[in-house]
Amino acid sequence: AHLDAIGRLNTALNAYITVLPEQDVLASADAADARYAAGTAGLMDGLPIGVKDLFCTKGVRTTAASKMLENFVPPYESTVTANLLNAGAVFLGKTNLDEFAMGSANMSSAFGPTTNPWTRKGDESTALVPGGSSGGSSAAVAAGLALAATGTDTGGSIRQPAAYCGIVGLKPTYGRCSRWGTIAFASSLDQAGPMTRSVADAGLMLEAMAGFDAKDSTSSNRPVPEFHKAVGKSVKGLRVGIPTEYRAPGLPADVVAMWEQGIAWLKAAGCEVVDVSLPHTRHGLTTYYIIAPAECSSNLARYDGIRFGLRKDAPTLDGVYEATRASGFGQEVRNRILMGTYVLSAGYYDAYYLKAQKVRTLIKRDFEQAFENVDVLLTPTAPSAAFAQGENMDDPVQMYLNDIFTVPASMAGVPALSVPVGLNGVGLPLGLQVIGKHFDEETVLSIGGALE
Ligand code: GLN
Repeated sequence: AHLDAIGRLNTALNAYITVLPEQDVLASADAADARYAAGTAGLMDGLPIGVKDLFCTKGVRTTAASKMLENFVPPYESTVTANLLNAGAVFLGKTNLDEFAMGSANMSSAFGPTTNPWTRKGDESTALVPGGSSGGSSAAVAAGLALAATGTDTGGSIRQPAAYCGIVGLKPTYGRCSRWGTIAFASSLDQAGPMTRSVADAGLMLEAMAGFDAKDSTSSNRPVPEFHKAVGKSVKGLRVGIPTEYRAPGLPADVVAMWEQGIAWLKAAGCEVVDVSLPHTRHGLTTYYIIAPAECSSNLARYDGIRFGLRKDAPTLDGVYEATRASGFGQEVRNRILMGTYVLSAGYYDAYYLKAQKVRTLIKRDFEQAFENVDVLLTPTAPSAAFAQGENMDDPVQMYLNDIFTVPASMAGVPALSVPVGLNGVGLPLGLQVIGKHFDEETVLSIGGALE
């Protein structure tokens, strides 16, 4: 059924960059059937999923939606996808994304944009963005081209596209899922997570993805709880914080209304809702857009035309570097590398990068202090519903503003879930974000279940 849906809809949506050959998909499904019959089924046995094209998959082209890796076929499997295969999941293909996961609209892919399956009521001909960077995954799950998909989130790339496409997206605690074999963007922020139709599915899939990995030095050795059991648990008596700083002036009325609705639902479920303060919130976005590009400029230095990926020949070594990088990277990736090398350069390191690291610590402390009094925080996931393709394209700052509610949890490394909670006046989905304490995905999932 999912392969049929891909056949019918992928040309229009462009959710997949690579679809696996039908006989391979059916063979994995048959193998899952056999395990089921033998009573040895894994946690995700036979479940057909999409894989963001940022996870290296052995023998399957992995592009990061970049010309730089257009023909890269990894000889190894990322830990997260290996864990999913071990749990019995069936891979359908590799989903589209912003180039190297840099973006909020899926407009920067070298393989063309992904289109959101949702449209505005009364304006069905305007194509909307699915959000980004995991926009191929969110569109695929929303339109039935996969039962679930993997995403990665550096500053919102699981949560914001989940909100824009009306699905569930969970960014786990930093260190919960191994980063090994996932193409790096900003290593101190990157985290893999599930994108699903329900909160229970997100718990189940995280359980399969997570776990200690000796190959990632930042991977946590905490045991992986039975996350799916957290969904449906009573949330009575839990304390929910509403960060006052997130009540940004200019926040659209439909987003505010949805937030109030979520608060009312949680109160009705027996939660105690209180205001909290995260005073450094207003520095979140600027700090993120220093640290993430700095780390990206360092991580992307490896694409030099020599070691792997695209190579453009030139008479000198510097010439090879220049020609390769000029033709391999798109505009947004180049912008980020330039910003990153600038803030790391000798004269500016202290003024920008070092200062941003200090502010990051303050943001982290904000969360620690808030979590002394509450179990979770509730905020909107994004400041708007999905916008039109082409909108916000001439103004990077406007595009970066989309991440205003998602970057703080990334900077602090805490888990955060986006749950679809309803439609706005023109019929587009809106999401609410539940942020939790370090390694407390279980409470986040319980609250998410109560909002569903
Ligand atoms: N939109 C943010 C950015 O462009 C976040 C991307 C992400 O989480 N990978 O950096």
